[in-house]
Amino acid sequence: MDNGLKQLVEVSRLFGSDPSFVIAGGGNTSYKNEEKIWIKASGISLATIDENGFVSLSREKLKLISQKNYSNDPLLRENEVKADLHEAIVAPKELRPSVETSLHELISYRYVVHTHPTIVNGMMCSLEAEKTCKVMFGERALFVPYTDPGYILFKVVAEGISRYTAKHGLEPSIIFLENHGVFVGADTTEKIETIYAEIMTTIGGRLSLQLPGTETTMLKSEIIACVESLHPGYAGFKALGIKSELTDLYVVDEISFSKAKKSFTPDDIVYCKAHYLYIPAQENVTDLLTKTTEKIADYFDKYGYLPKVLALQEQGIIAIEESLKSAQNVLDVYENILKISFYSENFGGPKFMNDEQIAFIDNWEVENYRRKIAKS
Ligand SMILES: [Zn+2]
Repeated sequence: MDNGLKQLVEVSRLFGSDPSFVIAGGGNTSYKNEEKIWIKASGISLATIDENGFVSLSREKLKLISQKNYSNDPLLRENEVKADLHEAIVAPKELRPSVETSLHELISYRYVVHTHPTIVNGMMCSLEAEKTCKVMFGERALFVPYTDPGYILFKVVAEGISRYTAKHGLEPSIIFLENHGVFVGADTTEKIETIYAEIMTTIGGRLSLQLPGTETTMLKSEIIACVESLHPGYAGFKALGIKSELTDLYVVDEISFSKAKKSFTPDDIVYCKAHYLYIPAQENVTDLLTKTTEKIADYFDKYGYLPKVLALQEQGIIAIEESLKSAQNVLDVYENILKISFYSENFGGPKFMNDEQIAFIDNWEVENYRRKIAKS
């Protein structure tokens, strides 16, 4: 195995197995030499990845993508780019390279490790993301305001990098993406680790509000036992619930829950959908089931799909999915949303994705593919 690829596998596992950096299937890593870039395949988990989990692509062909003109229609454009991305694959043709491949190619450092760390997103999904980023990192990092993922994000990051490079005479090694996460680039994996440690201590040092207990207990609720009866669309679905000091903070009433009712990042939507459903407490179990059924039907009418996350007032959080494994993924990602919301209070409070940004992801086929793979 190429030594660079070997180092890539090691650094991928290191970050991938630490839940404070990577939740569920999120994050991706790459290594490049002069001709080729090796990037994590879509749907593969970083924690257990080996050299077979990476796709190699021709850098020359990837560069053509940045020079080509594509359709103005977002869906058409993403399909055209996807086809060119497929065209650039050296091996293996049957794996799909990460949707963030072009961003990795933009950064000329040999190694790139992209993650969505919880405390970084506490800052990046807050009302004061840009301001705090300037104060804490100054010229050390490039800040990119939220942009729809895919080709447009690629263009915006490309511009940001060239502006930064023109000004500083070297490329940024830290790129923060609002409502998304961070890209770290360096020529060695040791340097990647040092830079990440710097990021974590810098942001960690600014957190005056410390997270409440996250020790979870399984939630016992009638809703979980009869989830299939709540809506015909849930036939064969499974539900899992949790409760912790952290969830207690958000399910106490609807106002508290409003701070965790929507998605912060495109990845949240991939796993949990964009909107989370609050169910007020009722006098008895029969009323609770009736109320929940009603609320789910209203939600379905409004959004055209069923909720995956229910917040039961005074009880806890329930995830509903096709299997127990995918329900657990939803819980993990949603619990992380609660943490991000909590940390964001250090930086002016939570900033969710807006409706237009959500609609773009909901319509995006690439993300649907990831959803499919993440479940299998
Ligand atoms: Zn990402």
